[in-house]
Amino acid sequence: MMYVKYCMHCGKQLSTKYIEKEGDVAHCVACDTLFFPQFNTAVSMIALNPAKDQILLIQQYGKQRNVLVAGYVNQKEDVEETLIREMKEEIGRNICAFKYLKSEYFVRSNTLMLSFAVVLDDMNLDFVDQDEIDCAQWFSFEKAKEEIAKDSLAERFLNHFIQVYHDDFFEEHDKIQINT
Ligand SMILES: [Zn+2]
Repeated sequence: MMYVKYCMHCGKQLSTKYIEKEGDVAHCVACDTLFFPQFNTAVSMIALNPAKDQILLIQQYGKQRNVLVAGYVNQKEDVEETLIREMKEEIGRNICAFKYLKSEYFVRSNTLMLSFAVVLDDMNLDFVDQDEIDCAQWFSFEKAKEEIAKDSLAERFLNHFIQVYHDDFFEEHDKIQINT
């Protein structure tokens, strides 16, 4: 985990201040501002077709490995907005429902990865962003387990989803209306 060493307001070197229930937190004495650990946040999506019996896997950056659609959360953006924006940008599809699954901190990119299951409005892949995505393909749950990149974060998220998934997984309050 990365910590800020200098105050982003006045540039003074930070000291630490003990905060009850938090422990030592980086603190600028001059501005009396606390600085909590800095890390990136990203979403990873188990994208399902409307019938919810197939999962979308993609290949990117010239690599012959199947992964899940993922993207970073922008500053000032809600995670719900990231799901919708990334799916629209990369796959050209809308999301009809989403459900949070689990998270995993990914050391290599200092990123907190949030795993979501999402349902797309259509299986049509004609609007996939050809610059960002080399290949996007639907797979049955069993086939997706075989085809996903081995020993990857995507594989762990996929296996977890398949373990917890059941009929009526998406409830009424998981559905969203999109006007685009
Ligand atoms: Zn300061």
